[in-house]
Amino acid sequence: MRVLKDIFRKNRAWAQGETERDPNFFKDLEAQQSPEILWIGCADSRVPANQIMGMSPGEVFVHRNIANVVVHSDFNCLSVLEYAVAILKVRHVIVCGHYGCGGVKAAMENHKLGLIDNWLRHIKDVRSKHENVLAACADNATELDTLCELNVIEQVHNVCHTTIVQDAWDRGQELAVHGWIYRLKDGLLNDLGSCVTHSDELSEIYRLAVDSTKEAGSSGIFHRTDLEKNHENK
Ligand code: ZN
Repeated sequence: MRVLKDIFRKNRAWAQGETERDPNFFKDLEAQQSPEILWIGCADSRVPANQIMGMSPGEVFVHRNIANVVVHSDFNCLSVLEYAVAILKVRHVIVCGHYGCGGVKAAMENHKLGLIDNWLRHIKDVRSKHENVLAACADNATELDTLCELNVIEQVHNVCHTTIVQDAWDRGQELAVHGWIYRLKDGLLNDLGSCVTHSDELSEIYRLAVDSTKEAGSSGIFHRTDLEKNHENK
């Protein structure tokens, strides 16, 4: 398989390049990982966490699944979250969705696909919850973009309600949970203004973030909120 041979060739070239750039690169990586960020993103091959943030291995702890869903009974995701928050002590959890997400699209279109329909049920729940916002969208493309945004906001909410994040905040640990969205068209990340740093602000930020998608729904463009600007430096 030529493709696989290429991978080993490129891997060697990459390792050599990193070592030339920094002779201690792999020695340091081997010694410890100390990422400040946990990324929860879509498994879509076009959304590689490190690459789009311009970060190196060792700087981001990553969990990915179809349509960046955080479910309270998913022990895979919860284990990653617990390890990142309680052991690695990351300071930021980023839930990042992307426009044109195939998982969100499948949930919106109601096609029967098989086992995955059970997973997509979580996004269908988001769709039902925000039926009114989605019904007001000007066209299907805008509706899909808006559902992608709402899905991120809901998953941020889910992360914040886990015992893991609640316990971290209770013990005074500095931890911010963010909701971002990535646009495949231009490679740019946008903050959805749903950054939460404490239980007390959770409901208000959730409400404001959902309202922002409502305002943007007719134009398909997300409007930055004052809250987002306030949280920019967190
Ligand atoms: Zn996706």
